[in-house]
Amino acid sequence: MSLSLSRRGFLAGTAGLIALHPFSLRAAANQAHLRIMETTDLHVHVYPYDYYGDRPTDTVGLARTAALIEEIRAEATNALLIDNGDFLQGNPMGDYIAYERGMKEGDMHPVIAAMNTLGFDASTLGNHEFNYGLSFLEKSLAGATFPVVCANIAKSLGASPTEDDMLLPPYVILDHQVTDGAGESHPIRVGLIGFVPPQVMNWDRKHLEGNVQARDIVAAAKAWVPRMREEGCDLVVALSHSGIGGAEHEEGMENASVPLAGVEGIDAILTGHSHLVFPSSTYDGFPGLDTAAGTIMRKPGVMAGFWGSHMGLIDLMIERDGAGWRVVTHTSEARPIYTRGDDRSITATVDSVPAVLAAVAVEHDETLAYVRRAVGKTDAPLHSYFALVADDPSVQIVSNAQAWYIAQMMVGTEHEGLPILSAAAPFKAGGRGGPEYYTDVPVGPVAIKNVADLYLYPNTVRAVRVTGAQVKDWLERSAGMFNQIAPGAEDAVLLNASFPSYNFDVIDGVTYQIDLSQPSKYGVKGELENEGANRIVNLMYDGAPIDPGQEFIIATNNYRAGGGGSFPGASPETTVFEAPDTNRDVIVRYIVEKGTVSPRADGNWSFAPLEGTSVIFETGPAGAGYADSVPGVQIEEAGMSDTGFALFRITL
Ligand code: MN
Ligand code: MG
Repeated sequence: MSLSLSRRGFLAGTAGLIALHPFSLRAAANQAHLRIMETTDLHVHVYPYDYYGDRPTDTVGLARTAALIEEIRAEATNALLIDNGDFLQGNPMGDYIAYERGMKEGDMHPVIAAMNTLGFDASTLGNHEFNYGLSFLEKSLAGATFPVVCANIAKSLGASPTEDDMLLPPYVILDHQVTDGAGESHPIRVGLIGFVPPQVMNWDRKHLEGNVQARDIVAAAKAWVPRMREEGCDLVVALSHSGIGGAEHEEGMENASVPLAGVEGIDAILTGHSHLVFPSSTYDGFPGLDTAAGTIMRKPGVMAGFWGSHMGLIDLMIERDGAGWRVVTHTSEARPIYTRGDDRSITATVDSVPAVLAAVAVEHDETLAYVRRAVGKTDAPLHSYFALVADDPSVQIVSNAQAWYIAQMMVGTEHEGLPILSAAAPFKAGGRGGPEYYTDVPVGPVAIKNVADLYLYPNTVRAVRVTGAQVKDWLERSAGMFNQIAPGAEDAVLLNASFPSYNFDVIDGVTYQIDLSQPSKYGVKGELENEGANRIVNLMYDGAPIDPGQEFIIATNNYRAGGGGSFPGASPETTVFEAPDTNRDVIVRYIVEKGTVSPRADGNWSFAPLEGTSVIFETGPAGAGYADSVPGVQIEEAGMSDTGFALFRITL
């Protein structure tokens, strides 16, 4: 495409009229406008496609983000394009390449092929680059036409960071030409240095232990940045695959972007990892940030969402200052690929770039076949029709996968050896979703796309450390799912319609019964209503009554551990582990590694008997075929509701 500059400061190109950025218009003879463009946390999203749901989506995909690049480049006299890490893993295309096709020497990874079409200037590593091991990473990076840097992962540590034997170059210095306000070209040296959370040593222990070591992000920056300055960098940009967290530096901190931005010699900072947007009101009031100015410790900063949702922009007005360049003013912006209406509807604002789609067209088709094909099998039906009245296989498999994963993550930590319990709730269990809104995966092959049905939300895994007393209260909170039932009642309504099923956590690893004759201890929002109530009875761990003082790890998700539903014991204070992985990815890995899963409900909970009492509940009509095989409960059909649900009777 050829561009011509008109008198009014507009570029006429194939995309129509493009307004030049004010810095490009305003730059004086000794000044230049340099734009830095960021993608981050792409997680192999190239096509605008949800492979779990097996349907197109307008909110993701580098092919869409790429549509912004042409326009964004055209708005600026000088531009750099940088990726901030987490490109190799995070959707079924990534799993397909790692688990099925493989990466042989000389193979091209599709996300790298897509990135190569766009002329990236550099990238850093994200934590997920280590998920499939170092050899896979090495072969993937070999295809990149751009340099990849990382300053805090070493093959072996030396006496100081600059003496480490690095896995990758810690930084790269780009010798570019910039065009100034008078149209003259000048050399500039831009240094790009990358960082990843040192927690990778724990998250990917099985791949990394004994092979590499990590340094604190800020410590590495303080050692390397002065060297970059000595080597004549005019500007140093930190590629921080780390979130925006506290302003106080703590050794080994995961979300270190604020103290990192404060390191002398860093001029601008690209952030990521948290899958959020900066500047945005999300970060209002955070120490060290100015969301209006788009600064982190007074340096320009940006975070470009995730999965290609945004293109991050830092615009620098730079000025020649003796021998070098310095930043005189700047702006930051995260530009989205779609808009969301007041009714939450999504409108795409860009079209996919054909060349980017073409780069991964073969792998896209292969991934579609992969998500539709069996990757394992189940020898029990995975349905949720009776998930609210009995232990249930669709909840059990989630629970099993979480416990399996957390057991690996606790190795080598101070929590190793504590008993691991797992909490999971049925997400698709009728209610407002209607009589068809249930999980229903039959016996036989399990495809990747089924996992979306088993785990509806893109939550991430977390672990909390709680006491036996908190385990009981957690379950008391869950038991608010049920109405209080008078002993001897006939056909009493069992389920509390205002209680959402996603707050009905079943905890695996303990056994218990629910006494429906008691009132609920907690209200629908988690408020304490009946302090002395005890619906949870016969709560046992390892065959003996639970010790209220004993400590446990509970595997759960970020919603619950973040305080969602106000569950006793589930809070940021009790959280001991925040996984970088989604529950969905963990379930896929669990199924792939096990081959055959047998998620038979283990019947670890049931209702306590209430003599001469019966209750009625509703479920999807398609559940009738499974009613005979529900463990630990006596169920019979009881007609239909006028809203299309099947009614069942339980004799307690
Ligand atoms: Mn990420
Ligand atoms: Mg169970």
